Amino acid sequence: MNRCLKRVGLLLGLGLLVLALWACARAAYTGRSQLLLISEGQETALGLQAAQDVLKKERESRDEMQAERVKRVGRRIAQAANRPDYKWEFHLIDKDVVNAFCLPGGKVFVYTGILSLTTSNDELAAVMGHEIAHALERHGGERMSMALMAQVGGQAASIALGSTVSPAASQVFNQAYGLGSQVGVLLPHSRAQESEADEVGMILAAKAGYEPAGALTLWQKMDSYQKSKGQNAPGWLSTHPSSAQRVADIQAKMGAIRAKYFQPASLY
Ligand SMILES: [Zn+2]
Repeated sequence: MNRCLKRVGLLLGLGLLVLALWACARAAYTGRSQLLLISEGQETALGLQAAQDVLKKERESRDEMQAERVKRVGRRIAQAANRPDYKWEFHLIDKDVVNAFCLPGGKVFVYTGILSLTTSNDELAAVMGHEIAHALERHGGERMSMALMAQVGGQAASIALGSTVSPAASQVFNQAYGLGSQVGVLLPHSRAQESEADEVGMILAAKAGYEPAGALTLWQKMDSYQKSKGQNAPGWLSTHPSSAQRVADIQAKMGAIRAKYFQPASLY
């Protein structure tokens, strides 16, 4: 029995029979089995609403050259992602924290703190490709689904089956993305999601004309940064822990991805 079916079995055990009917899905690029209790349309609507909240809370950078750089790299990756239904936007947030994320629907946020760690557009493409891959593969929807699984009963069912952006749905969404008032209780990405985002992110970066080896130097750098901060690595690194194993996995996948997808861009 695969993992998704086991989870469906758990749902049945919880009596959420209706949800089980369309709970199983497959990740777009890797075909990994997923449990998704909310529709992509609902996830996107929540993402677009959350993006407005982020823009109200955070300040966009006035460094036009760097903001334009983020947009330029982002647009190329978006083109490679081939999701014209997404309402793509790329924002550089003026805050010295190591953070970046892409909300469902295509709103991408890069913080100046992580931008300053990237020394090439290849590394920036690795950051953005990784975050966009999380959105394309609906990892937030999976985390929301896991949170809903933990809540037995009517409210979970109404969120899962609803088509609108209800306050209850927003709350679960914000928890999945570490947004809103509950900062610090971000539901962590699973290792499977992280590995998938690394792989798909490299594919997107390579298709967009960026050297996929940027992912390797990026994560090596993150490893050093994390070690310098000790156990309490802040923000992005708390949910994206770097490790020798992660770097080795990226290295192992690099050759095949490079050979299949990488076409050097004529201009960056
Ligand atoms: Zn990640």
